[in-house]
Amino acid sequence: MFENIYTPVQKLEITPFNNLFVKRDDLIDPYISGNKWRKLKYILEKAKSHNKSHIITFGGAYSNHLVATAAASARLGLKSTAFVRGDEVKNEILLLCKLFGMTLIFTDRESYRDKEKLFNNHFHHEDNAYFVDEGGASAEAVIGCAEIVDELIDSYDHIFCAAGTGTTAAGLLKGIQKNGLKTKLHIIPVLKNGSFINEEILKYTPHSENLVLHLNYHFGGYAKTTPELFNFIKSFTARTGLLLDPVYTAKMFYAIIDLQKQNIVNANDKILAIHTGGLLGIFGMKDKF
Ligand SMILES: *Cc1c(COP(=O)(O)O)cnc(C)c1O
Repeated sequence: MFENIYTPVQKLEITPFNNLFVKRDDLIDPYISGNKWRKLKYILEKAKSHNKSHIITFGGAYSNHLVATAAASARLGLKSTAFVRGDEVKNEILLLCKLFGMTLIFTDRESYRDKEKLFNNHFHHEDNAYFVDEGGASAEAVIGCAEIVDELIDSYDHIFCAAGTGTTAAGLLKGIQKNGLKTKLHIIPVLKNGSFINEEILKYTPHSENLVLHLNYHFGGYAKTTPELFNFIKSFTARTGLLLDPVYTAKMFYAIIDLQKQNIVNANDKILAIHTGGLLGIFGMKDKF
């Protein structure tokens, strides 16, 4: 199921930009969406090659990673179980996880912190169990995300991407280095105090002058929003026909437009925004619109 794919690059007609493009990784699959498909590709391949038939992972109750892992595991004939942070709840994301056959273990926040311990306590007797970290953070995920750059036919002055753990960012930087490109990589951490993303990226790739972090577009922190962000999503989607999620891609596109206003990027520069998917996140915020 992880056959090669080439997601389309589309031009966005939005003033004052003359060369703004978007790589539509959101089109890979509705459930194994965007960068989660890229990240799981080599993780699940490794699990299979080690004859592991039961994927164990971790996430919050609105995690795109959980749905993606549930769907991808099911398609590969693997069992999946997730430790879900916090009290038992029902929502659209967890409904999909259950439909894809994932077993959910709701876990209090204190125990959730030690993921290795949870894994060992529950699965020490199970040879087939395979540990996949929260969000899929791993060296395999970085290799999968580097393929986003391998697929590009044209070259760009700037590539933009949102970051949660920074694994996707590390993969993009690796891809830029591997392909010998001069492209600047602009990363928008969606959490407060996002400078830790730098260290995360350095775990996987050497330091690079091409990397820039923009720390002021978190809108209050992870999954935090403001009325301004919702207004931005509404007007952007109506103008471009492109859906954005409030947690990641909306903050990235807001940053691109704001950085152009500040003349940090030029409206004539060739810019590629990575649409990392995650659109199911919209349904968690339906009351806000
Ligand atoms: C998970 C996710 C990210 C963050 O990816 P990291 O590799 O954790 O930085 C970005 N965008 C979307 C839509 C996501 O679902």
